[in-house]
Amino acid sequence: MEDTDNGRIDKENNRKTDLEKYDLARREFLEKFASGVFASLVAPALGFVSSSKAEETSEEPNKYHYKLPNLKEIELPEPRPNEDVLIRMMRDLQRALNKPIEQRKWVMVIDLRKCIGCHACTVACIVENKLPPGVVYRPVIDEEIGEFPNVARRFVPRPCFQCENPPCTPVCPVKATYKRPDGIVAIDYEKCIGCKYCITACPYGARSYDFGENYTDATPSLSEIEEAPNFEYHRKWKRAGHESPVGNARKCHFCLHRIERGLLPQCVTSCIGRATFFGDKNDPDSLVAGLITKPNVMRLKEELGTEPNVYYLT
Ligand code: SF4
Ligand code: SF4
Repeated sequence: MEDTDNGRIDKENNRKTDLEKYDLARREFLEKFASGVFASLVAPALGFVSSSKAEETSEEPNKYHYKLPNLKEIELPEPRPNEDVLIRMMRDLQRALNKPIEQRKWVMVIDLRKCIGCHACTVACIVENKLPPGVVYRPVIDEEIGEFPNVARRFVPRPCFQCENPPCTPVCPVKATYKRPDGIVAIDYEKCIGCKYCITACPYGARSYDFGENYTDATPSLSEIEEAPNFEYHRKWKRAGHESPVGNARKCHFCLHRIERGLLPQCVTSCIGRATFFGDKNDPDSLVAGLITKPNVMRLKEELGTEPNVYYLT
């Protein structure tokens, strides 16, 4: 029993030393760059980027630097009337994947009239991406609308909006975060130094920092699921040993590792209200292309010029 306790204490001490090393490296980096970078990069971003700035960013050489896996098509049943909308969206997904990446534009549509606030998507996403405490890619915000006594309760799921003009990318001093040709804003965990500039620059609060904590830290042993690797960006990321993504910025990426294998994002498949839709808005036959032309469609903080790729039906 004593050995187990000592082992746990040693492990905890090692973890703290690792974290201190990360913090030191980051502090040194920040001291070196803080004055110039903050003035030239963060400050303009807080005032928001123009579309020409965003275009400049999309030309960064590292924007799309890893190889796509081979797409193993999933066999779908013959189309039939009244089929489940998930099957329809998987068909849309396969069509999009058969096009060159530059010709696809992934969007998400969330029907606020159908969301029942069950948080199934939040939990499914945590499991899919092995998210630690303090990191949530898809919270569901519970809000009251109207004026007393005419009030109602509304649930608003909030993933990353994969903005067309993302204020989070130009502020990154090491170009670790970038916009892909298919519209997804990605993070290269190997390049990210954890300076958190992008977290500050996002007007939607969609990014968070991975401090390396676990839900079962104060228990005799870590749970297996927390120690298991995740598969973001088509790679196996071990959390054990405090390797990336510990110490990095993290955010929703529309489950890139799933969609490029023909699977819908986990939040879409787990939504019991069938309130979330996903697909290629450049495909006129896709479900999402039809939904985003509805008169009751809206996007959050449109006045900022970020052009979110997540639409809400109200
Ligand atoms: S929602 Fe925030 S993190 Fe996502 S692309 Fe837009 S600015 Fe970047
Ligand atoms: S936290 Fe990482 S991705 Fe964000 S700005 Fe810093 S280095 Fe770039």
